[in-house]
Amino acid sequence: MDYGLVRLEEVVAGLPPTVRLYLDDSYLREARARVLRYVPETKSSGYVVLDRTVMHPKGGGQPTDTGRIQGEGAEFVVRKVLELGDVVVHYGKLASGSGLEGEVTVELDWEQRYSVMRHHTAGHVLDYAVLEVLGEEGLTSASAFHGPPESYIEFEGPPRQMDLRALEEVANEVVRQDRRVFPVYVGPERLREVVMGAFNLNRLPRAERYRVVVIEGVNAIPCGGTHVSRTSEVGRVRVTGLEPSQVGFKLLYRVET
Ligand SMILES: [Zn+2]
Repeated sequence: MDYGLVRLEEVVAGLPPTVRLYLDDSYLREARARVLRYVPETKSSGYVVLDRTVMHPKGGGQPTDTGRIQGEGAEFVVRKVLELGDVVVHYGKLASGSGLEGEVTVELDWEQRYSVMRHHTAGHVLDYAVLEVLGEEGLTSASAFHGPPESYIEFEGPPRQMDLRALEEVANEVVRQDRRVFPVYVGPERLREVVMGAFNLNRLPRAERYRVVVIEGVNAIPCGGTHVSRTSEVGRVRVTGLEPSQVGFKLLYRVET
């Protein structure tokens, strides 16, 4: 059999949007799903599209989830999860079998995902802390990365003077308060009314419906990521540095148990 270079556009062509189970339940570690397409890259590696998945793709400030897809007589190890448009694509290697079809079980590497959830919620808590410490409403976020080894939130503009210990204190106070974290969905007409303390409004893509992650009484930020359900699960927030970047400055952080 001849294997050419696989284009992601061809992998997703004509397929419906993937149901992203993590949007409503970040704690879901596995689910049954149906294979919509398997595209081999080599004899043992390839691309899998399912009708639904528990896996978050690389993007939106998160590293890729990894895990396994278990089918009838085949096991597929997911190395990287990608998205093109509304379709999620699992890339990896067959550990056994010659392809995937029909009903399968998709399962996450939970330890790594849970770490990302803690880091992502910590990132939102730090957004709040930055607002509290700087007392500045006009800040604009540029990007973020919520995963080990080094997480950061990045802002546009000249670096501000910030007391990093004060930032940490504000953040860890929110952690101690054990606030509830949950998503709500709103249309564009209600977005500005629901959102609170978000730095990313001006780089949001247009959508019919927005998912807003609320930390009760703290902030409400448009976000498609995976979060813990209470701030106490974040653990201790450590701000490890403030450094200039190409577009502005980065606040580096990590979470500790
Ligand atoms: Zn987020």
